[in-house]
Amino acid sequence: MKNKTANPLWQKIVSPEAVALMKLVHSFHRGILPAEIGKNMLEALKPFINIVCSALILDGLIAGESAASVMKIVCWMVSLNLITALLIALLDWLRKSYLDVWCISQKKFSERALQLDYERLEETETRDMIRMHDETRNMYGGIPGFCEDVGRTVKSFFSIVYSFGLMLPFFFTRTVQGKGMVAYLFTSPISSVLVLAVLTASIYFSLIFFKKKERKVKEYWEYSLDFTRKFRYYHFLISKYQNGKDIRSYHMSDLLYKGFQEVGRGCSAFLSRQAKLEERIGGNIIIISQIAVPLFYILVGMKALFGAITVGSILQYVGALSSFYESFTSLMTDLTEMNICANYSKCEIDFFSIENKKYEGQLPVEKRDDNEYELEFRDVSFAYPGTEKKILDHVSFKFKVGSKLALVGKNGAGKTTFIKLLCRLYDPTEGQILLNGIDIKKYDYQEYQSLFSVVFQDFKLFSFELGQNVAASVDYEEERVWDSLDKAGIGDRVRRMKEGLQTVLYQAGDDGVEISGGEAQKIAIARALYKDAPVIILDEPTSALDPISEYEIYSKFDTLVSDKTAIYISHRMSSCRFCDNIAVFDNGTVREMGSHESLMKKKGLYYKMWESQAKYYSEKQMEEVPSFAG
Ligand code: ADP
Repeated sequence: MKNKTANPLWQKIVSPEAVALMKLVHSFHRGILPAEIGKNMLEALKPFINIVCSALILDGLIAGESAASVMKIVCWMVSLNLITALLIALLDWLRKSYLDVWCISQKKFSERALQLDYERLEETETRDMIRMHDETRNMYGGIPGFCEDVGRTVKSFFSIVYSFGLMLPFFFTRTVQGKGMVAYLFTSPISSVLVLAVLTASIYFSLIFFKKKERKVKEYWEYSLDFTRKFRYYHFLISKYQNGKDIRSYHMSDLLYKGFQEVGRGCSAFLSRQAKLEERIGGNIIIISQIAVPLFYILVGMKALFGAITVGSILQYVGALSSFYESFTSLMTDLTEMNICANYSKCEIDFFSIENKKYEGQLPVEKRDDNEYELEFRDVSFAYPGTEKKILDHVSFKFKVGSKLALVGKNGAGKTTFIKLLCRLYDPTEGQILLNGIDIKKYDYQEYQSLFSVVFQDFKLFSFELGQNVAASVDYEEERVWDSLDKAGIGDRVRRMKEGLQTVLYQAGDDGVEISGGEAQKIAIARALYKDAPVIILDEPTSALDPISEYEIYSKFDTLVSDKTAIYISHRMSSCRFCDNIAVFDNGTVREMGSHESLMKKKGLYYKMWESQAKYYSEKQMEEVPSFAG
């Protein structure tokens, strides 16, 4: 038998996600929720001050009380209104606006994303969380929208509490004796219990319909999430100028337009069905509430008629009941919206609770002037998170700083993955990577990473100033930036740019400059040189370069890299031939390792790869191709 654990009632009303999100918001900034809640509690109170005071004034006038005592109540009414208005204004001033909350939460989200282990960031779940964060923020207001929902819910809840408090004496009025059976019945506790029972039943049935409505609204939101995603994708395809070339040359506008129309048709059919359903459920709620309201009014009238309550109390009870129902309806809507918003903002809670394992190490990396670092892969195997296939399979070897290592092998053999593990973007599934004999996990992550300058094959430059791109920082040493650009062979091109190092790359703003793939690759190389790390890694560093630039870069590599450790990945066998060590990757394993000469003598895989490339070049051409370490 299934052991069902029932949720406590409050969890059925306020979802656990909403509570968790409130805690998260509170951890962002301690002032957001208290001010929002306080302000709404007071706003809920405001109308009741007038209801109570008006009832007292009316009773005073009917009872013929002195003008002074009536004026006293008027003064109280004015003062209380003034005090509440001032307190509300103060809390409104203290409270964070929608925009403030948006900025705070966005800042926290960005900080978190930047601190996250790359491995975590690349996981599908994490990417889904980020996508959901963007969707919910755009569609439902995200955290700022949730905070406003909390405020509205609090206001409705306290309105109910205050109105119920005002209604309470009504159920304990005195029973009128000696005025006949009708007077007795209407003023006796039986009638109060009866009306209370009808009120409770109407609330109960309204709750059932509201839950039904919540489910429908949730369904609608879920569906809308899907079609807005599709709409956004079509919009992205159409609006991004980089897509324009393919759309035009393959006449894809018809395909896009039809897809766009289809999404629109499906969406409007669903929306009209949903609106009708919501209307029907809303109608049922109004009917149910209307059964209890007339009964209550009749009883109020009768009790006043038979003298069980004063005329002023009629004002109080009628005002309290109408406010009770109004707030109850609002509370249900507000709760639904708050719970749904929290449900969709759940991705924020999950995002902030992702464990960051890379930052556990504390050991400082030994700073060595002699650059005597030794790196070792010890029986390392690796499969990407969420996959079974071993991309690296029991890889073992050592290399020293100062030496030049080349990684060769077919596409997909695992070379880039090897580099990602070396730089600790991922941790090995099995085995260890050691720096000077110590597991790299034990080192401080930031310090360990500062050992490497990598130019990945799919490197990215950003739409910032060129100088900032090279220095990877807002402030930079201009001379060093120029030096790196010159070494990478793009200094003269940058000097010809009107804004020089201040030139903004790409088109994020009005004045962005488009650069070619080859120019971008040179800037990426300059960035790696500016970092001046002891280990420089170049993954297919010249794939986007023209033959002349490639020649220039290759012939300069030796001076660029100087006494640093250099690890190269290249498809040009000849460019690797003067490296101290060449590791031949095949299907996730290091099949062969050694110098060019020793590997050629072996007549194994390296020899085959060399020979197959040599077929396309004359011996002279093979020799002439510049090498990394020539
Ligand atoms: P190489 O650099 O030798 O061309 P890679 O190391 O880039 O090879 O890729 C090796 C294998 O790992 C490929 O089959 C590739 O599809 C797979 N791979 C690369 N990145 C990922 C990833 N993030 N998730 C899953 N598989 C990946």
